Amino acid sequence: MLDNCPDSFYITTPIYYVNGTPHLGTTYTMVVADTLARWNRLWGRDTFFLTGTDEHGLKVSQVASDNGMAPKQWVDLMATRFIAAWNDLGISYDRFIRTTEPEHYKTVQSFLSKIYENGFIYRDLYKGLYCVACEAYYNESELEDGINCPVHKRPVTEMTEENYFFKLSAFQDRLLKWYDDFPEAVTPSTRRNEALGFIHQGLEDISITRTSIDWGVPVPWDHEHVFYVWYDALINYLTAIGYGSDDTSFDRYWPHVHHLLGKDILRFHCVWWPAMCMAAGIDPPNKLIVHGWLLAGGEKISKSRGVAVDPLEIANEYGIDAMRYYLLKETHLGSDGDFSIEGMVSTYNADIANNLGNLLQRCLALVASKLDGVTPACPLEPPEVFAFQERVDRVVHSWESFQPVGALEASMELLRSANVYLEQTEPWKSSSVEYITVVIGAVLELLRVVSLLLLPAVPESSGRVLSRLGVEVPLSIRDELIFGKYRGGAAIEKSAPLFPRLEVE
Ligand SMILES: [Zn+2]
Repeated sequence: MLDNCPDSFYITTPIYYVNGTPHLGTTYTMVVADTLARWNRLWGRDTFFLTGTDEHGLKVSQVASDNGMAPKQWVDLMATRFIAAWNDLGISYDRFIRTTEPEHYKTVQSFLSKIYENGFIYRDLYKGLYCVACEAYYNESELEDGINCPVHKRPVTEMTEENYFFKLSAFQDRLLKWYDDFPEAVTPSTRRNEALGFIHQGLEDISITRTSIDWGVPVPWDHEHVFYVWYDALINYLTAIGYGSDDTSFDRYWPHVHHLLGKDILRFHCVWWPAMCMAAGIDPPNKLIVHGWLLAGGEKISKSRGVAVDPLEIANEYGIDAMRYYLLKETHLGSDGDFSIEGMVSTYNADIANNLGNLLQRCLALVASKLDGVTPACPLEPPEVFAFQERVDRVVHSWESFQPVGALEASMELLRSANVYLEQTEPWKSSSVEYITVVIGAVLELLRVVSLLLLPAVPESSGRVLSRLGVEVPLSIRDELIFGKYRGGAAIEKSAPLFPRLEVE
C-alpha cells in the first residue's frame, strides 16, 4: 500500500483568474481535487483542500475597467461567482483563498523578502516580448509566425521596464538534483520529462516585479514596484497553511502537499516554484500532479478561446454525479479528455443506471417479494466470482496512486461480477428462504462495499444506495471494506428506481 504521508493530506488546485466564470475545464480540475480530498478524508487522513481566486495583474485590471469598475469591486464580484459555483457543485474545499486578502499580502512580502535577503533577487533593466493575456514574456523562438503568442494566437507587444529579477539560473543544478532525488515528485512521467527538458535547455533569470501597473502586492523594499502576478499567485499555497504565522499548521501540511495543475502551467509549478521554495529555504512540494486538457470537440475549453461549456447547466440538467462520474472515468489523469453530453449520458447509463442501479433494484425487489421486505445479513465469505479482495485492493491502490479511472473500473468489475453471480444462482427461481438469503445477502454486502469505494467520486448516489441498505456513511472507511460486515435489517418499501436512465436533451 502506498502511503505518501500517513497522517495528513494537503491538496491544492490552481487559483483561478477572475477574468471569467467557472467553466467545464476548471470544473474538471475541481472535481479531481475534490474526489482525491474526499478519498483521503474517508481514509482517515487529516485533509486540507485549498482552492481560490487569482485576483491581481494587468489583465484583471483591464477587464475591470472594461466593465466600468475598480479592480477591487470587480474581483469581489467575481470571487463570489466562483464560490457560488463550487458550492452549487458540492465541492468540499476547506479554504477558499483570495490573493487580495491582507493575510496573503503579508505572506507574499515575507516569503519574497526572505528570498531577497538570501541574495536571489536583484534589480535590472528588462526588455521583452509580452503577451497581455498570458501576463508572460516570450522568447522570439517561442512565438508563432515570429509575432503571435503560442497560446492566444495574437501579437505580443514589446515592453521595457526596470524590474527585480529572480536568480532562477542559480538553481539549475539544484533542480536537476531534486528531480533525481525525487523521481515521483512530478507525475505523470511524460510531464516530468517535459519539465526536465526546460531545465536542461538552461534557465534564465526571470523578472518578478512591475512598475507599469499598481494592481498587485507591493514590493516591501521598493514601493515603486508590485510583484508580478504569477509570483504572488504561487505563494497562496503557503498563505493558506500559515507560513510565517502558524508554524504548527505549516509543519503539519508542508511539504506534504499535492499540487494539482493543468499542463499549460507546468513551467510555473514544476520549475519556478520548487526553485522559489529552495531560495526561501523551505522544502519544495512533495507532489505535482499534472493533468491534461479537457477538450470539447477537440478544442480546449476555456473562456479566452471562446469554447465554454457551463458546468452548472450540465449539473442542473443531468445531475452533479453524472458529470463527476464522466469526468473521472473517461479521462486518465494526465491525458487529454474529450467531453460530450452524449458520452456523459451513455457512461452514466451503462455504469450507474444499469450496473449499479439495476443490481440494487433487482435485489430489493427480491427482498420485497421473498424475504418479507427486510434485507438479510450477509454470509461470512464472498462468492468466488466476486474476486472480492483482489478487486477491492485494486480500487484502494488506484485511489491511493491518484488514478480515478483504475478505481472506477475495478469498482464496475465488482458490480458486474455480482450481476454474473445473480445469473448463475437465479434466486428468483428458488423457494428456499435460506438460499435466497445467502445469495442476496452476498450481493447487498458487495453493494455496501462498492458504494463506500465510490463515495469519493459520486457522493450523492453512493449515499443514496447506503441509505437504502440502512448503512450510515462512516467517518472513515478504512476498516469497513472487509466482507462480512453487513447486518441487514433494513425495511424495503416499494419505490421507484434510484437511478433512472438519462436521455440526451
Ligand atoms: Zn498569450
